[in-house]
Amino acid sequence: MPDYPKRQQALLETIEGDAYLALNYEHSDPVSLRYLTGFTGEGAFVLTEKEAILLTDSRYTEQAKGETSGLSIEEDRAWRTKATAEAIGKRDLNRVVFPSARVSFSWVEEMRALDRFPLVPAKDPVAALRRTKTPEELDALRRAAAIADEAFAALLPALKVGMTEAEAALRLEVLIRETDAEGIAFSVNASAGSNTALNHYNPSLDPKPLAEGDLLLFDFGACYAGYRSDITRTVSVGEPSERAKEIYDIVLRANLAAIDAVRSGKTGPEVDAIARNLITEAGYGESFGHGLGHGIGLEVHEPPGLSPLSKDTLETGMVATIEPGIYLPGFGGVRIEDDVIVGTAGCDVITAFPKDELIEVG
Ligand code: ZN
Ligand code: ZN
Repeated sequence: MPDYPKRQQALLETIEGDAYLALNYEHSDPVSLRYLTGFTGEGAFVLTEKEAILLTDSRYTEQAKGETSGLSIEEDRAWRTKATAEAIGKRDLNRVVFPSARVSFSWVEEMRALDRFPLVPAKDPVAALRRTKTPEELDALRRAAAIADEAFAALLPALKVGMTEAEAALRLEVLIRETDAEGIAFSVNASAGSNTALNHYNPSLDPKPLAEGDLLLFDFGACYAGYRSDITRTVSVGEPSERAKEIYDIVLRANLAAIDAVRSGKTGPEVDAIARNLITEAGYGESFGHGLGHGIGLEVHEPPGLSPLSKDTLETGMVATIEPGIYLPGFGGVRIEDDVIVGTAGCDVITAFPKDELIEVG
């Protein structure tokens, strides 16, 4: 079990205040509550030097007792912001820090209107603590990556000409859910033919059947013990065209070169530039519009950013995706995405599904 008191102490040391308030209502901040306490339901978490208080309603109180230990669990009977303001107000706290990136403006207004204590915004201190992972977190991320690899290997023989993108996505989702995964990391993206040029395509929009010669792109991941993998593989339905093979080869070289450059001390823009320059020199710079990668963990997108605009520097124990792509409107696209653990002399690639050549399926 994670050392929750240690995480709570680390948080108290980073904030400028005598309490921290995290609110998870309507999925506003499940990760902070889970990271700090192990609780996966809705509620408010108030942390002070003396106490760790979890305020939740009757739907979750039994669950909270099972998932957590060492917390004062209080039942919310005044509904959310009012109950939270009362619980904090009676404890006489002077500066209650909250994550402005995770809390709705109206909740802040509601609590301020009750005028029980000063609320002080800090962007997202828990996300900052989560940037580098412990060995236990890395094990969960490795398992999440392995589940995704295994599910994809099981999917490929089942893919057939005439199957729709949505069917292919659903089969992959079922394969992930049949394992010890908690679930899928995010909605499975399966796109075929010219749809592969659409970065965040939703397969339910267009029931397109797979056809001979289509590029077929899957972006997917598993969630294991809360931690998420994020992998993309592009395959070919039947024999690929020369153009498809050409862009696959460029994207693969960009993926490998960037992975080769990852180590602690490199900046997000530096690693991004390795892949971007290679794609630009091959003549496709305009066709790679997104950043090279992003951190993963309890969330599928978290720091560090690997993009031209990122201010992040890689540190040992960070986990990030490397996902260059080339997208040609009307033709199709290729993306190859892997998950890597940053080390001092290089990185450990935890997604292992083969990518050395454009695999033919169907
Ligand atoms: Zn992805
Ligand atoms: Zn990604």
